[in-house]
Amino acid sequence: MRSFIDVPEDSHFPIQNLPFGVFTRSDVHGPRIGVAIGDNVLDLALLEEMGLLDLPELKQTFPFKSETLNAFMGLGRPSWRAVRARLQDLLSDDGDPALRENAELRENALVPQSAVTMHLPMEIGDYTDFYASRQHATNVGTMFRGADNALMPNWLHLPVGYHGRASSVVVSGTDIIRPTGQTRPNDDEPPVYGPTRLLDMELELGAVVGTGNPLGSSITIEKAGEHIFGFVLLNDWSARDIQKWEYVPLGPFLGKNFASSISPWVVPYDALVPFRVDGEPQTPEVGNPEPLPYLRQQEPRCLNLELDVLLETTKMREDGMQPHPISKSNTRYLYWSPEQQLAHHTVNGCNMRPGDLLGSGTISGDTPDSYGSLLELTWRGSNPLAMPFGEERKFLQDGDRLVMTGYAQGDGFRVGFGEVEGKVLPANM
Ligand code: MN
Repeated sequence: MRSFIDVPEDSHFPIQNLPFGVFTRSDVHGPRIGVAIGDNVLDLALLEEMGLLDLPELKQTFPFKSETLNAFMGLGRPSWRAVRARLQDLLSDDGDPALRENAELRENALVPQSAVTMHLPMEIGDYTDFYASRQHATNVGTMFRGADNALMPNWLHLPVGYHGRASSVVVSGTDIIRPTGQTRPNDDEPPVYGPTRLLDMELELGAVVGTGNPLGSSITIEKAGEHIFGFVLLNDWSARDIQKWEYVPLGPFLGKNFASSISPWVVPYDALVPFRVDGEPQTPEVGNPEPLPYLRQQEPRCLNLELDVLLETTKMREDGMQPHPISKSNTRYLYWSPEQQLAHHTVNGCNMRPGDLLGSGTISGDTPDSYGSLLELTWRGSNPLAMPFGEERKFLQDGDRLVMTGYAQGDGFRVGFGEVEGKVLPANM
């Protein structure tokens, strides 16, 4: 499949992707929905107005002149698929010529990404964060409890998670104010109040729920994929010193809920189906317990997404340097899939709603250069990262800008997320 629009091989946004986002253009009032294609955004509100998205699957709704994706997501998978197929037809080099051969419409409907402002793509009612990377759970467990008790007894039997905070999920590009709070730096002395000294990132994949389920019902593992609209990259900023002091016995709280950043583009579930790979076997033959039936999933259950984390210090920015790579990971390292997380989340009758966000948990691979947090990359600060100009980092400093990016490699094209980035500002005191 090829588009009449020129898309370089290393672009994240070929016709095979078509991620959805919410944007504002300078010449038209109000946010609207678009898809990314190459360096452009295709304005779906305009196509809708022109009658080019008149599809029975949209059930006479007009979901694209909207400030969120929620209404469109709530229509369900047949509608998502019909729109995706229609857009691929309109953008292909041999399909419906309505856009391809109409110069005025192309001029109006295709806006350079550099000329638009991207917004949070959905209204997030609830955000749940999991802990699905075995290596991450093992690393953190080793640091806090020792190697012999690294994985808790439940970890291989269920996707461990906690309820996060939806109100502080922000779109890429939003500055992050260093949180203040209570910590106990010295075990022999009382706790103190102040800015976190151990500000960290967490490299995660976010699954966006498209259609939910009524309270009291469950989403089965077989049906879970139909309920997931798509995926975003997620940086789940964390304050490790606040977290360490507060988390017993009810889990993460203020060390986590001050900010989580997501990429502006939601990559459709269907766009990533060709990039599924088998995960770590969940069978006794390799020493892992077989999950209970409600969690048993057919392979391939993992996504093969190459992930990169880059860091830019104030000094690097002033010198015009590109961000420096600090980690290279992959979603295939996740033990529990998004479908398993969704099946588990609803097995008790908990209801999901369009726009709910499920974070995978920090994605860490087997080798130290593939860890998804500074806590692990620097092993609690004992092994600082060497940065350009002789700088080093244990945790994030004010002025640091963190960039996460990721894509699946196809044959001559990439299906990617663009970036999720954010800069750390000094604490409000
Ligand atoms: Mn997290």
